[in-house]
Amino acid sequence: MADSQKKGYRYVIEHMEDDDESTEALPEWVQLEYSHMLKLVGPSSSVHFTSLSSTSIPPLTSHLASPKAHPTTSPILSLLPTLNPPIDFSRVCLLDPRAPKVLSPEDGESFDVFLYGGILGDDPPRDRTGELRKLGFEGRHLGEKQMTTDTAVGVTKIVVEDGVPLDKIPYTDFPTITFNKYESIEMPFRYVKDDKGEPILPPGMKEHLKADLNRSIDDF
Ligand code: SAM
Repeated sequence: MADSQKKGYRYVIEHMEDDDESTEALPEWVQLEYSHMLKLVGPSSSVHFTSLSSTSIPPLTSHLASPKAHPTTSPILSLLPTLNPPIDFSRVCLLDPRAPKVLSPEDGESFDVFLYGGILGDDPPRDRTGELRKLGFEGRHLGEKQMTTDTAVGVTKIVVEDGVPLDKIPYTDFPTITFNKYESIEMPFRYVKDDKGEPILPPGMKEHLKADLNRSIDDF
């Protein structure tokens, strides 16, 4: 079946990171991950970025520059009834590392919305997804390793839109990103790997990580 004929889904990223009130724009890593999600989802799908501050929406909208992007100040529960057609609560799946059931291709028939925590991720994980779990959505996990949010979105798309079982997707865990002979950083996440065995990062993320590393070295 051609991509354009596949069912479209709504991916919802509930923004849960504290914004730096001094700047309107969201942190660089958020913008890079959010842009990457728009590339990862299928052609008939869209991505809603919820619970954003009103000041962060104009710069994010111009950064994303995509008709598939829907930033809003509304939280997920306020968003659902405003969608066209309105989405029933039971058709929402929370991607939750602590969910009892694993995501499977068949879930593409049971759900129309996939919900994620817009969280940088901690090492070890602090279960901040638990704040969304309290809302009572049906949950599915993506394996025992923590993924970045954009990786979780991309893996969900491969499972429900492309019909590939979770354990048939090639991963690389806790990869080391090497910048040069002296500088590298280990990333505490599972990533989908490309055909060269490298982690699939958001475009621009490697440069951002290097600049961040240099900034933190300068701060010493
Ligand atoms: N540290 C957070 C926690 O412990 O809940 C997870 C942050 S993770 C970087 C961001 C989001 O990606 C999660 O809120 C969840 O929606 C999704 N995610 C990441 N890894 C996952 C997994 N293994 N199973 C299900 N969802 C996952």
